[in-house]
Formats: sequence, C-alpha cells, structure tokens
Amino acid sequence: MEYDVVIGLETHAELDTDTKLFCGCSTAFGSEPNTQTCPVCLALPGVLPVINRKAFEHTVKTALALNCEINNFVNFDRKNYYYPDLPKNYQISQNYFNLGNDGFIELNVKGKKNRIGIHNVHLEEDAGKLVHPEASDASYSLIDFNRAGVPLVEIVTKPDMRCIDEVEVFMHTLRNILLYIGVSDCKMQEGSLRFEASISLCRKGAQVFGNRVEIKNLNSMKAVLKVLAYEISRQRELLERGEQIVMETRLWDEISAVSRRMRLKEESHDYRYFPEPDLVPILVDKKNIESIRMTIPELPTKRHQRFVSEYLISEYDAGILTESKSLSDYFEECVKLTSNSPKELTNWIINDVLRVLNEKKKEIQDFNISPKMLVELIEMKSEIGGAIAKEVFSEMSNTGKDAPTVVREKNLKPLSNTAELSSLVSEIIGANPKAVEDYGNGKESALSFLVGQSMKVTKGKANPKTLLEIFKEKLANSP
Ligand code: ADP
Ligand code: MG
Ligand code: ZN
Repeated sequence: MEYDVVIGLETHAELDTDTKLFCGCSTAFGSEPNTQTCPVCLALPGVLPVINRKAFEHTVKTALALNCEINNFVNFDRKNYYYPDLPKNYQISQNYFNLGNDGFIELNVKGKKNRIGIHNVHLEEDAGKLVHPEASDASYSLIDFNRAGVPLVEIVTKPDMRCIDEVEVFMHTLRNILLYIGVSDCKMQEGSLRFEASISLCRKGAQVFGNRVEIKNLNSMKAVLKVLAYEISRQRELLERGEQIVMETRLWDEISAVSRRMRLKEESHDYRYFPEPDLVPILVDKKNIESIRMTIPELPTKRHQRFVSEYLISEYDAGILTESKSLSDYFEECVKLTSNSPKELTNWIINDVLRVLNEKKKEIQDFNISPKMLVELIEMKSEIGGAIAKEVFSEMSNTGKDAPTVVREKNLKPLSNTAELSSLVSEIIGANPKAVEDYGNGKESALSFLVGQSMKVTKGKANPKTLLEIFKEKLANSP
C-alpha cells in the first residue's frame, strides 16, 4: 500500500530581549538557578504583569517576515494546566486573537520551490525548568525559575509538509529567517529554539488526513528528523496490519531511538482557555506595523536569488553564502572592497574561511580575518602565488595578523629579483631541452611546465609572473 505523509511543526523561539515578558527580570542564559526571579514571574499573590514592548515588536516582526496578516486587535489568554515548572498554574499565551495569521514560508527543496503555510504566530511566556537528579532512585526534583516568563514566539504551520527533506529545509529556513531579522539567537543547545512535530499517514491521494501523533521533547533538528523517520515506519506498519492510529502525544527517547506514548489525546488536558483579565487588549496601530516592517532586512531567499543574478555565482554557492546573515554580510563587504571577481571571493570563503571556522568551532563574527584582510591577501596572490597565499591564510587565521605582516615575518616574499631569477631560468632551460623544444614547436603548456619546475626549485617562492616574463624573453631569443 502507498501512503501520503502529512507533517506540521510547532516552533518555539525565545525572543531576544533583555528582560522577561511581564517583569524586569533578566533573560540571560546560564546564570545560577533562581537568581533571575521576582514576585511577578514567581506568581506571588497580588502581582500584575506588564507587557514587554520589545517582545511584542519582535513577534510582529516575525509574523511580518512570515507573510502573516497582523491582527489589529490582540489579546492574551490564560492556558490553564498544573505542572511544577509553571508557577502560576497557567501560562499567559494567545488562543483567540493571535498576533499573526495565515502566512507562509517559501522553501527551496533541492531546487524545487515550495510554500509551507503558517497557521499562526503568537506570543507567550516560557515555563521554568525542572532539574532531575542523576540518581534514578532520588525522591525529589529541583526547579529553576530563571526561564519562567521568558518571552517565546510560537510559530504553527499548516499540515503542509509531505516528506522529511521538506521538514529539514523548513527548520533551516525558519531558523535563518529568525536570525536574519534578529529576534532570537536560535541556539538550540540553550533551548532558544525548540520544535514539536505532528505527523500522520493516509492512503495515497486520500481527501481526509489520518489521525495525527504529536511528538514533544525534541532538542535538536537531528532528533526531529530521526523521530519522523521512525514514526513513518511505525505508523505504516500499524496501518498495514489493519490497525488504527490513535491521536496521542509521544516523547522521543534519544538513547533508545524510539518514540513512546506520553498521553492519549482523549486524556489530554482541557486547557480552559479564557481571556487574561490582568492585561488589557492591545489595539495594533497600522503606522507601528509599517515602521516595524521597515526594520526587516532582505530575507535569505531573496538575497540568495540576488547573489546569483548580481554576482554570477552558482545557486549552490549562493545557498551556502546566505546560510547566515553574518556570512553573507562578510561576503558582500569583501565584494565592495575589491575588483577581484566575486567567484574568487566565493571560493576563498567557502573553501578556506568556512573550513577554518568549522575546525575552530567559531562563528564568522568571531573570525580574526576581517573582510579587509581577506581581500588584501587575495590581491597579493598574483605576486606571492597560490601556494604561499594558502600558507599565509592559515597563519593569519591562527594569529590574526594581516597578510603583509605574515609575509614579512615568515620571509615568504617571493623572489622577484630579476638577476637571481634570470640565472635560475637559464638553469631550468638547460636542464629541460625537451620542454624547450616543445615550446619552440608551439606547445604553450611546455611553458607552464618550465615555470612549474622553477617554482619547485624555489619551493614556491618565485614570483610566477616575473618568471613567465623571463622565460618568454629568453626562449624567444634562443636559437
Ligand atoms: P491543536 O489545536 O489540537 O494543537 P492544530 O490544528 O493547531 O491542533 O495543529 C497542531 C499541529 O499539527 C499543526 O502544526 C498542524 O499543522 C499539525 N496537524 C494538524 N493536523 C494534522 C494531521 N492530520 N497530520 C499531521 N499534522 C497535522
Ligand atoms: Mg497546538
Ligand atoms: Zn521576574
């Protein structure tokens, strides 16, 4: 039997604000537990929330970047459930009037363009974090409320994805957009970006989707892809045996690589949503929306297309360069500084810069070769030759010194002294009569061979341009 796979994602991203959503506590990651709390985020009696304007604006910005309609009447709702990490016993979220609705993300899946619908974008507060002791027989758990009340944007897709490749591209594209617009640092290892997936199978071409299974507890993109592959085969096996898929929430167990039932949907909580009485509704001003729209930079898909058409580099290379905003900024700064071809810059950035960043586990922002320094090196290449340029690059990336300094200190300056090179050329001509004869018979490649021989003798330190000139001159004058 053939099946269609149907997938939707719910994404939570912690918004980049200095303070929490409803109080003045810091949102900095990694502080001592319970040092960033106050009566408001601990939900002591009698306190009142005050909305963080920046968090609200970041959510508008996100909704706009995802092509949503912005509601001009926005309200918060209480989502009631009892869980130890939720000090108020309810979460302030949005249910009836989400900030943004009905948007889409444009994907490029292996060269094929595809649109994934965004059901809604809304703003809510994060919960605290339970810390379970290592010992399995421990009779207690610890709670850290530093995260309670940190602003989250939740992005809910429509059930529009049909395969795992699409999900992978979706997650990268969304993360990239959030980074481009600067609303979240999207550090998955710090929990700033979290995904939940819903997946169902139905008979190929069926009009009605199957029952969906929701998977929580996914702390990396890899885990999302693994659990989806697992669920596709689990659900297919069940369907083939004639069994029903039940609506349920499952957890992914990373260690055993299986998903397990957490709760059936029928048993799932009734959240008893109702409008948050402690916050007034927000009437969103069109002018404000437009001024937020103005702060959205060129987004990755558009920049990708522009790089291909403006700099004549390949789709593939443009894709790599626009993976992150800072990398594409780096590239464009280099382009501005030189008349060298963008293709050459692209090669240096993709082959050398990214390799070193990867080795050193660094981001481009922390790279110690600035665009100006890279361009300076590339412009020296015709003088020092490709092999030395690579050596200089490696030294620059280790020391942060610029190219002229490295060349001077390591004595890498090519031999350009004409007299010295001239005697070398005579020697090489004497030692390679066959190549000389070939060249005389019109074989141009013989000349490159002779230059290559000289480079070998000088261990790459001769100036290839000067060499070439001397060879041409000598060979033209020889009988
Ligand atoms: P709920 O309100 O119960 O949380 P939603 O309709 O908001 O359910 O959907 C939650 C997520 O599940 C969304 O990302 C949506 O795309 C996805 N989804 C909905 N129906 C299906 C389905 N039949 N198969 C797979 N995913 C689905
Ligand atoms: Mg939901
Ligand atoms: Zn607080």
